[in-house]
Amino acid sequence: MDERRNILMDRYEIGRQLGQGNFAKVYYARNLTSGQAVAIKIIDKDKVTRVGLIVQIKREISIMRLVRHPNVLQLFEVMASKSKIYFVLEYAKGGELFNKISKGKFSEDVARRYFHQLISAVEYCHSRGVYHRDLKPENLLLDDNDNLKVSDFGLSALAESKRQDGLLHTTCGTPAYVAPEVLSRRGYDGSKADIWSCGVILFVLVAGYLPFHDPNLIELYRKISKAEYRCPRSFSVELKDLLFRMLDPDPSTRIPISRIKRSTWYRKPFELNPPKVKHDTARDKVCNGEATTSNSRECSNSEENQVLQNLPNMNAFDIISLSTGFDLSNLFEEKYGRKEERFTTRQPAETVFAKLHELAERLKLKIKKKDNGVLKLAAPKEGIKGFLELDAEIFELAPSFLLVELKKTNGDTIEYKKLVKDEIRPALKDMVWAWQSDRHQQQEQIMQGEQQQSPLPPGPPQQ
Ligand code: AMP
Repeated sequence: MDERRNILMDRYEIGRQLGQGNFAKVYYARNLTSGQAVAIKIIDKDKVTRVGLIVQIKREISIMRLVRHPNVLQLFEVMASKSKIYFVLEYAKGGELFNKISKGKFSEDVARRYFHQLISAVEYCHSRGVYHRDLKPENLLLDDNDNLKVSDFGLSALAESKRQDGLLHTTCGTPAYVAPEVLSRRGYDGSKADIWSCGVILFVLVAGYLPFHDPNLIELYRKISKAEYRCPRSFSVELKDLLFRMLDPDPSTRIPISRIKRSTWYRKPFELNPPKVKHDTARDKVCNGEATTSNSRECSNSEENQVLQNLPNMNAFDIISLSTGFDLSNLFEEKYGRKEERFTTRQPAETVFAKLHELAERLKLKIKKKDNGVLKLAAPKEGIKGFLELDAEIFELAPSFLLVELKKTNGDTIEYKKLVKDEIRPALKDMVWAWQSDRHQQQEQIMQGEQQQSPLPPGPPQQ
């Protein structure tokens, strides 16, 4: 970072600190080209590498790029320097929702609006196979139209690492939002655990205090595991009933989102502070082909599913393999040239493995091992730097959307590149949706084209 002017990577001017988590500091920043306000979360790379989380974080970042919803804080891009990882995030101007509660609890009507937005975000993420697992007040932010923005969706690796660091009991302080099955460290269903946390959040919104609290941690655990709480008298019967079903200590009988949405309390009408400004972002257009306002609660599920089904028809720069946010080359590249090739595919993992096996047989590559979704391949003859070896690893970004990473683990880079170019790429042509390295080229070409035509004016911030 240029310390004097606080310019990051020639792209963002860093301003005041907005907050601090266990793992990161968050700063206000402005995109120097577009003028857009963003928040930049700066993470210490050493720390995450030390606890062995880099691969998990890499995977979760790619998942976050798939998650696009008006009530989920958007990750625009990820950058890295030698010692830091930078998450460039949508800026939530309104700050934390719970700063508002500290000034007074909400009426049920006001709480319902936020709750609708929370459930909409959570339902959307669950439909993509993404679970938050750490929903709590710090993760609920507001934009300048008073719309809820859930942050850190998909970044559970960072939450996990808090635990590995032993910080949960110190800095995070309270497990008050965590479901009993998570506390007891049994295997748990991420969606049910998130529903519990939403129940605690709903209680806090209307009561102004936590349902489970006790200065003694053991006693607090006991109360959570038995769902021992009392609602204030002012709570409506319908609200009590919904909370009772959400704060069910047995995850197997806990109410699912579909039934939360059919509950009497949830379905009561509300009309409060309609937003002044219409958000007209690429994401909104993506939802249904035309702009929707950011608090028109959701792209309906069928519309979203259509988006997934129509992935290849979307603006290529809007989605994962072609998005800047997915460019983690700084983070993971070798000093002398890229040793990884990544492509996305909509074929199932078995088909990808079968194709790789077929290719290996044809090229007489030895299949050394298939372990945890990694296929290890080795050339039969020694090259100039020993036997060429490569790993093929599959990551599931969404149920029908995979990322395949090919990585040289031994041998000469030029021999490897030749193998990829002459053999692997043509052989996989039919199953590849996009090669990530092609994105670099395409993006460079487009950026060059844009620069030649008309430099972007420093337009108004999007928010
Ligand atoms: P975190 O590390 O995500 O828990 O962030 C720490 C604090 O920084 C949060 O509790 C917020 O107060 C603030 N913060 C994080 N992200 C943003 C954002 N995108 N916009 C505004 N404030 C943020």
